[in-house]
Amino acid sequence: MSHVDILKLHTLKATPQRLCVLDVLKNYGHATLEDIEKQTKLKFPTLSLSTIYRNLNEMVKKGLLSELKLANKKEYYEITKENHAHLVCTKCGSIEDFLIDTNEIIKKAQMSTSNTILDATISFDVICKECLSRK
Ligand SMILES: [Zn+2]
Ligand SMILES: [Zn+2]
Repeated sequence: MSHVDILKLHTLKATPQRLCVLDVLKNYGHATLEDIEKQTKLKFPTLSLSTIYRNLNEMVKKGLLSELKLANKKEYYEITKENHAHLVCTKCGSIEDFLIDTNEIIKKAQMSTSNTILDATISFDVICKECLSRK
């Protein structure tokens, strides 16, 4: 599906700025606000940070983008996909999607506590393949 179609599907107008943000996220996989600002400003030098932020928030609200809050890390944005966990390299900081059924993990956790689990960000500290081969 093209990014124009994805925006339409989420009842958002396909503005050049939004399309640019989606391109950046597609390339990065997971990008911080700073990453997105840097890359979109290459194409739209006059674009303000508040406009970028507003666009990101709108796309998060519509469910097109997800915010990723990892411990000790900046907030990342990614294009929403099926539930997944993350592999975070402790050496280079790279973030990789890890397709496991996080709902299943949350369900199991919920059975072990009387508290109500609202949400979970599941990540694993790893040494990535690149760092391992660089040794
Ligand atoms: Zn690494
Ligand atoms: Zn991800």
